[in-house]
Amino acid sequence: MDLLNMQYVIDDVPIEDLVRKYDSPLYVYETAKMEKQYKQLVKAFKGTKIKIYYACKALTNLNILKFFKGLGAGLDAVSIQEVMLGIKAGYDPEDIIYTPNCVSLEEIDQAVEIGVRINIDNISILEQFGHHHGEKVPVWIRINPHIMAGGNQKISTGHIDSKFGISIYQMPHVQRVIETNNMKVEGIHMHTGSDILDVDVFMRGIDILLDTAKNFPDLECIDIGSGFKVAYQDGDNYTDIQDFGKSLSARFAEFCKDYGRELTLAFEPGKFLVSEAGYFLARVNVVKQTTSTVFAGLDTGMNHMIRPMFYDAYHQVVNVSNPTGKLRIYTVVGYICETDTFGWNRKISEISEGDILAFKNAGAYCYSMSSNYNSRYRPAEVLIHKKKDYLIRKREEIADLTRNQVVLEDVL
Ligand SMILES: *Cc1c(COP(=O)(O)O)cnc(C)c1O
Repeated sequence: MDLLNMQYVIDDVPIEDLVRKYDSPLYVYETAKMEKQYKQLVKAFKGTKIKIYYACKALTNLNILKFFKGLGAGLDAVSIQEVMLGIKAGYDPEDIIYTPNCVSLEEIDQAVEIGVRINIDNISILEQFGHHHGEKVPVWIRINPHIMAGGNQKISTGHIDSKFGISIYQMPHVQRVIETNNMKVEGIHMHTGSDILDVDVFMRGIDILLDTAKNFPDLECIDIGSGFKVAYQDGDNYTDIQDFGKSLSARFAEFCKDYGRELTLAFEPGKFLVSEAGYFLARVNVVKQTTSTVFAGLDTGMNHMIRPMFYDAYHQVVNVSNPTGKLRIYTVVGYICETDTFGWNRKISEISEGDILAFKNAGAYCYSMSSNYNSRYRPAEVLIHKKKDYLIRKREEIADLTRNQVVLEDVL
């Protein structure tokens, strides 16, 4: 999003035109930014054999999936439904890694049927899977290295109390299960959760992962998951990808040499690829002055973007309708009958009722976490590709709210 000729644009398309055309609230994504992020990651690991699996739970629109496929990405799916979306978007099953947590063996078997790669994160399922499939279906194993790489407890998954992954202390048990069932382990995986702030701590996790990997002779791939942090506001910390690429490439080359073969280094970024490519646009319905605060009340709420309320996520807000106005302090809230505050005491250029506000970093975990709470329609989604706008999901309507309801005609 840039300020061009006194108006905010996304890849040269004026934001106010988008709202006039598609109404509000509205999600807008730009492919140019996604491609930039993807290529940045590729560049950081130049010389290393890598594979990038887009973690599609961040943003699951089929067009986004297709776009990343076009760039050469695979897909990271955490549910059988995400696997099915991936297949619908044209991915080869072998380019999809299925990494569920606490799902049934039946669901995992469905994924086996489809032919995707199976990543197992608990010993109970590993045992049952091995018993059932033995050497016929190779697996990946998700380990928990017990590191705390980031700041946010709610989204960290690598710490000791986390439900994710098999503890590194249980590797002898894993080995027994593998040997007893003749299983073939083709990948070792970890995903320690979002927000790697400290590359050194993360590299310790990698050391643990690689140390574990040595004990599996059939590997093709080492998957380090994700956790690449992006900046949410000026001065925010973010993962320095070039730096990280350098350290990790060197460490990985050393590992492959010891291991005796060149393996693939895999990543599963979600947020890094799509967060900054997305904007959420909403209209100000009411400016409400109370005794202590000025509220800007929007035509949206936690039903459409829950991250601020759910994880205290910070999303920068700008007034698209008054780009050069005097800065004043507002608390930006939603229209839901809950306290759904997007941001407290934000400096925003003077707001009038009817103005359009834009939230930044709205590509990841925003639309994909939206709901119909308060019986509101989910917004439309628009894609900006090569400076042109395309509708990629229609705004919902009343039929979407009643579609699956069974109205009891004779009983009530
Ligand atoms: C959510 C998830 C990711 C992506 O995490 P980001 O922080 O969005 O990059 C990657 N791998 C797995 C297994 C996940 O569950």
